[in-house]
Amino acid sequence: MSEPLDAAAAFARYEEVRARLPAATYPQAPLHAPTLAEVADRWDGFVLDAFGVLNIGDTPIPGAVERMAQLRAMGKRLVVLTNAASYTRADALAKYRRLGFDFGEDEVVSSRDVAVAHLDRVAPGAHWGAISQAGDDFHDIPARVTSLLDTGGWDRVDGFLFLSTSRWTLETRAALHAALAARPRPLVVANPDLVAPREGGLTIEPGFWAHEVIDRLGTPVHWFGKPFPEAFAEAEQRAGLPPHRLAMVGDTLHTDVLGGRAAGMAAILVTDHGLFAGRDVSPFLSGSGIVPDVIVAST
Ligand SMILES: [Mg+2]
Repeated sequence: MSEPLDAAAAFARYEEVRARLPAATYPQAPLHAPTLAEVADRWDGFVLDAFGVLNIGDTPIPGAVERMAQLRAMGKRLVVLTNAASYTRADALAKYRRLGFDFGEDEVVSSRDVAVAHLDRVAPGAHWGAISQAGDDFHDIPARVTSLLDTGGWDRVDGFLFLSTSRWTLETRAALHAALAARPRPLVVANPDLVAPREGGLTIEPGFWAHEVIDRLGTPVHWFGKPFPEAFAEAEQRAGLPPHRLAMVGDTLHTDVLGGRAAGMAAILVTDHGLFAGRDVSPFLSGSGIVPDVIVAST
């Protein structure tokens, strides 16, 4: 199920839910540079969003593979931090390798991993009902998980784990709302994005529907992934550097730039690919007050 939602509508919705996102401070004005190469010496490590920075779907962004090699040669630490919850980290790593990147397993953090690592803190020993893509067998999740879309059981699980909108329908939405209304239970969202750019346009992601749950039912949501702090804490740990020596590189304001700045990192916005491709970003900066340290055209 998808509703027509363009980048401007997604931006407006992010602003509506802004109070639910972390708070951050921003520089007065960004620097501009063609690529990461021109500003690389300012930081010791880079936390890289995937879509819009490294790849667009199954295509690497031109020059991105070479840029990563150049940053490595300069001694920079690299960590990929992606809001991706449908696939396991092993799947994500395999994809980057296929695209020509040489990231190691310890250099990739997905929001799915971050959510899974926190499930027992949200509800110890819980039996989770997952909203997931077809074929997800949850083998990377130590907790007990049932696929609600394959076997049902909405009334029996102790909490809900929202991983994917790939099978989301009006019926799924009604079932989740009814289940939470009948018996409030924790809702864990492993991808806080409202939308995701794909080759064919924007898709609506779990964050969009979770904000609707908050609006309608007041259910507290446990968010894992950018822009929330747990994801950035994991990236810092992988980089082995404090946040002020890291720059978050991404193509979105409300996830990458806001989250990076909230975590104490610098933020670099890439404009030629991903969410802002083909758009003038300045009205979005002034409309949100979310200002990156640097704007680069490409990676
Ligand atoms: Mg992105």
